[in-house]
Amino acid sequence: MLIVQKYGGTSVGTVERIEAVADRVLRTLEQGHQAVLVVSAMGHTTDELVRLAHAIERTPDEREYDALLSTGEQVSASLVAMALQKRGIKARSFTGWQAGIETEPVHGAARMVKIDAQVLRQAIDDGVVPVITGFQGIAEGSITTLGRGGSDTTAVAVAAVLEADACEIYTDVTGVFTTDPRVVKSAHKLAEISYDEMLELANLGAQVLHPRAVENAKQYHVRLVVRSSFAEEEGTWVVETPAGLEQQNVVTGVAFEREVARIALIGVPINRHGLAMVFSTLATRGINVDVIVQSVVQTSEVDVSFTVKEEDSDRALSIMREMKAELEYRDLVCETGLAKVSIVGAGMISNPGVAAQMFGELAQADVPVKMVSTSEIKVSCIIPATQIEMAVQHLHKAFLE
Ligand code: ADP
Ligand code: ASP
Ligand code: MG
Repeated sequence: MLIVQKYGGTSVGTVERIEAVADRVLRTLEQGHQAVLVVSAMGHTTDELVRLAHAIERTPDEREYDALLSTGEQVSASLVAMALQKRGIKARSFTGWQAGIETEPVHGAARMVKIDAQVLRQAIDDGVVPVITGFQGIAEGSITTLGRGGSDTTAVAVAAVLEADACEIYTDVTGVFTTDPRVVKSAHKLAEISYDEMLELANLGAQVLHPRAVENAKQYHVRLVVRSSFAEEEGTWVVETPAGLEQQNVVTGVAFEREVARIALIGVPINRHGLAMVFSTLATRGINVDVIVQSVVQTSEVDVSFTVKEEDSDRALSIMREMKAELEYRDLVCETGLAKVSIVGAGMISNPGVAAQMFGELAQADVPVKMVSTSEIKVSCIIPATQIEMAVQHLHKAFLE
């Protein structure tokens, strides 16, 4: 079998961990498989690079920022290749461009457009284990990055183009849990989860997989498993339709996100087409808007509020101020210190009343709900950030224990 193995930051965090990774790869090869590796930067290297850049410039040049952030993965790829060579394994490190990973020409969260599989195929045919830097590619001669956590996406894309038999994501937890096991001790590991539910959980803040990795795995039918690099334990398979017991639960998981801000435009004249203007401007300026709520039209005015990541709130506010003359709103309000808690489950489609139950649980726990957003398989509530852990624990208990 051809197996793509991705090792996350903690899994290559120290020399000892890198040696353990090399031992695992050796075992994989001894079982008669072929391996292709994708690695993240060691430990918190990327955070440290972010810190360095911002110590020089609050808004660093995007090209240089990506060039800097991509270096972390080069360190670990070379070290892992060396550790493999020490064990008599032929191995070679590849940066994104060396592996032929082309992205669209944007920085910060570029999408891959093409992977030239030729180079990697040749290496595999020569009996070499390629060790590819995750999270990066090239566009028009510049290094680009795929967004934080993007090494998962590199691994799935490589698995897709090589038509690998499986893509194994090695991390510091033993699989996908019903919620972040660091926040809820009684969270339990799922044997299987559907692509759709996993995609919702990832999009709603569950860090364990990068959302685009799940998207690509679904699209290209990649067999994807999340496992621990620290333990020999079955992981979680991400599949089209889970067969297991979990399906009996209406809710599959609880996800959350911190550092949310809400911006409210009060008293926008209804005839100004304000909604279209607000959101198209924010989009062209690269600000992601999440939950949007518009009040019922009472008179000739509406109130519009939306959430953004806290780090984007200053920029979003100043854009709204620039647009005051066009929008003619009466007042502009920004509230920070918020968070989002979500419940996800394919079973919700056929079970009305889940949202009501969620609001009831939050009310019982004295958590004020400031905004709500729903889809077929999720309900999200914006709540005060100070109460997020308690809310997650409470909802987990109510729906999953
Ligand atoms: P890596 O560096 O290996 O990519 P990440 O830190 O990106 O690892 O992702 C793993 C982390 O995701 C875990 O340590 C855990 O705290 C967090 N996490 C959040 N939600 C979940 C979940 N539902 N199941 C498992 N882990 C989760
Ligand atoms: N090193 C990058 C990050 O920390 C990419 C990754 O780990 O997936 O975001
Ligand atoms: Mg990750």
